[in-house]
Amino acid sequence: MQVFKEKTPLKAAINAEKSKAKIIGLVPTMGALHHGHLSLVKQALQSCDRVIISIFVNPTQFDNPADLEKYPRTLDEDIKLLEEASDHLWIFAPPANELYGENISSEQFNFDGLEQVMEGKYRNGHFDGVGTIVKRLFTIVEPHKAFFGEKDFQQLQIVRKLTEKAELPVEIIGCPILREDNGLARSSRNERLDKEQREEASFIYQTLLKTRELFGTKSADYIHNWVKEQFKNHPVLKLEYFEIANTQTLKKINRKRKGHNYRAFIAAYAGDIRLIDNIALNNEE
Ligand code: AMP
Repeated sequence: MQVFKEKTPLKAAINAEKSKAKIIGLVPTMGALHHGHLSLVKQALQSCDRVIISIFVNPTQFDNPADLEKYPRTLDEDIKLLEEASDHLWIFAPPANELYGENISSEQFNFDGLEQVMEGKYRNGHFDGVGTIVKRLFTIVEPHKAFFGEKDFQQLQIVRKLTEKAELPVEIIGCPILREDNGLARSSRNERLDKEQREEASFIYQTLLKTRELFGTKSADYIHNWVKEQFKNHPVLKLEYFEIANTQTLKKINRKRKGHNYRAFIAAYAGDIRLIDNIALNNEE
């Protein structure tokens, strides 16, 4: 397994692959890899000859220093997991100065409002950080295709917007959410949950499933109140937001309109651990 720490040798290796007409895929991650990440890698391997997995805990997308500090870092295990998965993989695990130089700060982006709701509203500067790092990775790797999980659905739409606005020649591919047996969306942060929190956190997905059921007959307002009520006395989880939004614009729903797709989104805390999840509500899936 080749592990690149520097961009120059990585670029040279990629160019050599491209000269042999190989299709290059990129899967950006922050490491502490789990089966959700692996599902992206597997999807990438289906249509790419060489897949680069970047592993970098990007400081500029964290608005909470404690969250950044506690974010799990397990590079040796990550390498082992990917080694077992395929020999068509390369890892890019650079130190911060390789991507940022001496100045660790974000570029500012306008994603036509996609960045102003939900994660953008509750995590200050988050999507400027995401935009900055994704753009840099795209510039270094110049992949034909890049794979992002629907687990971070807002991020996926923002990366699509970034690509469209900057006219980057990369195809963005969204991949379905992988879940634990109890329905909890897989996440590197799940490793920090204790046994009770991990069990109770399945409530997030249960609520989303019920939301999808209610969406057939009830108004968005009704569902909003219902979800708030469900979380009100929950022993472990604290709701940060619940939204029903248009899948394309991520604008909060006013009333259901024919021909539009909607998704429900939840962010909730178990102790100091922040969890997010979402679900398609109508004919999208
Ligand atoms: P992260 O390491 O959390 O930044 O995630 C890296 C990529 O993996 C992102 O595109 C995520 O959306 C995706 N991802 C993380 N968890 C899951 C999951 N449970 N199912 C599908 N994709 C995921």
